[in-house]
Amino acid sequence: MQDKPYFCPNCRANRVRFKTIRREAQIIQKDAFDGNIVSQGEPEAFTTIQGDTEVQCLSCNFVGYENMFIKMAEREPRYR
Ligand SMILES: [Zn+2]
Repeated sequence: MQDKPYFCPNCRANRVRFKTIRREAQIIQKDAFDGNIVSQGEPEAFTTIQGDTEVQCLSCNFVGYENMFIKMAEREPRYR
């Protein structure tokens, strides 16, 4: 997650309330017959790939990559 301002590109009304969504990868082995998990590795978070973090706008519920929100905030910065 980047320490930069967000601006929702969809509703263009929210710069404050967001939810970040992180995906995790985990290697598992399943039993082919009953579907039970036979073994599983440690979960790996995908946080190292820039732009992989997804953000949800809590105003309009739009979900997009973090970069979209950052680009929008850079294009239309908030003036104090
Ligand atoms: Zn929005």
